[in-house]
Amino acid sequence: MDVKTTIRSIPGWPIEGVVFRDLTTLMQNPQAYGQSCDILYERYKDQDVGKIVGIDARGFVFGAVLAYKLGIGFVPVRKKGKLPWNTIEETYTLEYGEDTLEIHEDAVEKGEKVVIVDDLIATGGTIGATVKLVKKLGADIVECAFVVELPELKGREQIQGCNVFAITEFD
Ligand code: 5GP
Repeated sequence: MDVKTTIRSIPGWPIEGVVFRDLTTLMQNPQAYGQSCDILYERYKDQDVGKIVGIDARGFVFGAVLAYKLGIGFVPVRKKGKLPWNTIEETYTLEYGEDTLEIHEDAVEKGEKVVIVDDLIATGGTIGATVKLVKKLGADIVECAFVVELPELKGREQIQGCNVFAITEFD
């Protein structure tokens, strides 16, 4: 099973000039979804990871399964206004505008090893803000993991010094 072939590409959505990589077609394919989660599990199973941090919203789809398979906790990073307890926040520029992400201030421990999971890295704004939040709380980032990377948009440059892993990439 090549998970890449299950991803649907939608030219001109949400704005002209963008080709949106639609992972719902991967998620609804049980072999592709299972294999994506298995690849992440095999990569992190012996790394003594304490928590998975998943980014709103598609990062939850892969991150929560990974946390379950590893037998560890899951931490959501959410769009502003969704988390009920005390939070810290970061505002960032994304491919189509600006947004603010939040994390609960007690979500990870100082020195705890975490893997951050999202479905896709494009310009790196989203993961850049998330890395800042996790670092502010003092956790140790093992790696930032994605199903898809769009290397032409150079998202890795927003998180220099962090390890980055992507299951597949599109030009
Ligand atoms: P970035 O902040 O790296 O520019 O954009 C990545 C974020 O926007 C991720 O949270 C991702 O879910 C979303 N995103 C941007 N472009 C795409 C795309 O083509 N497909 C999908 N599935 N998500 C995208």
